[in-house]
Amino acid sequence: MKYIEPHAHMVSRTTDDYQKLAIAGCEILCEPAFWAGFDRSSAEGFYDYFRQLTDYEPKRAQKFGIKHFCWLCINPKEADDPVFAREVMSVIPEFLDKETVLGIGEIGLNKNTRNELIIFEEHVQLALDHDLPILIHTPHLEDKRKGTRMILDALANFSQLNREKVIIDHVEEHTIAMVLDQGYWAGMTLYPESKCTPNRAIDMLETMDADRLWMNSACDWGVSDPLAVPKCALEMRKREYTAAQIQKVVYDNPLRFLSQSPKFSV
Ligand SMILES: [Zn+2]
Repeated sequence: MKYIEPHAHMVSRTTDDYQKLAIAGCEILCEPAFWAGFDRSSAEGFYDYFRQLTDYEPKRAQKFGIKHFCWLCINPKEADDPVFAREVMSVIPEFLDKETVLGIGEIGLNKNTRNELIIFEEHVQLALDHDLPILIHTPHLEDKRKGTRMILDALANFSQLNREKVIIDHVEEHTIAMVLDQGYWAGMTLYPESKCTPNRAIDMLETMDADRLWMNSACDWGVSDPLAVPKCALEMRKREYTAAQIQKVVYDNPLRFLSQSPKFSV
């Protein structure tokens, strides 16, 4: 089965994981910029991280026939100091011309602080200035509903924003409807500990309009599963989905959203 992994943090994973992804049928993988498991002490730390995302990881993925794309930003977890965040953001434009940079992400909120929100809005403006799609992270567990509401309210102030070019990730049962109802795309993250299980994701597929939905593993430095997407596809097969229905969610939908970035090509 061919599929797209639209959200994985491969800088935290081993080369063996690339091999497993390739064997499972992963053809394209997208890596949003995020926390790398530790707080970076300087903007130069991010500069090197962006080099890693735009130069090194595509080559590592290519060894296994996987096409690697990335998204750039300073993640909300490290963006609570606006002076530092703006210093990091000032180096992003020089990377936007790199051939595998899809857009701005994953921006969003972590602890729903005022400073996080200010930097979130400045990232949205950066994306608008460069006419790029946006990938948004929503907070975990108890902060998720409030954080998602804050994000949607902030986005509503950008009247020139094309909502079709914005995906709000890590939705769950209590946030998916508000995201889709407002015309955005939604991402479901399959995570062993928090976020949702394959069966919960499939239940959401069945209750929502599945046209603007994708699934990802968001595998990273923590307990997570790089093969979560093909494992969910297997659950779909057990629940008697057809091959075409499965392909729509794990390949066609991400392809449609990602194709809005001028850099994306299969
Ligand atoms: Zn992520």
